[in-house]
Amino acid sequence: MIKCNDKTAEKIRKFGEGEYPNECCGLIFGKINKDGSKEINDILPIINAREDENKYNRFLITSKDMLKGELYARKNNTEIIGFYHSHPDHPAEPSKFDLDHAWPVYSYIIVSVVKGKSEKMTSWVLSSDRSSFQEEQII
Ligand SMILES: [Zn+2]
Repeated sequence: MIKCNDKTAEKIRKFGEGEYPNECCGLIFGKINKDGSKEINDILPIINAREDENKYNRFLITSKDMLKGELYARKNNTEIIGFYHSHPDHPAEPSKFDLDHAWPVYSYIIVSVVKGKSEKMTSWVLSSDRSSFQEEQII
């Protein structure tokens, strides 16, 4: 379960719509509670580092972006708890690429953007054997 307030959800949707037909991506900050639930308190958009021809279906966050995110987190007394990205004209479900590039523990929020308009938003975590994603409820 991941807590995401309306303002943050709206921001993610707007970024997805703004980058359409490319994928938007960014970092999610917040905290992980003892029971494993997460709370988002901030997000940071990242420029999609994928080469142009792949931007519509792939996103890439570089180690430089991660470092920037770590510094941002430290400064704001929070931590990186996941990533968000958009799926232009595709369902809000992780792709094979997403699965192959995912790290454990982090949440992966995906927003589907159809014809420039944001639709379903979902969140996913990698299973402990890393073979699949499990959907996590957004509240
Ligand atoms: Zn994806």
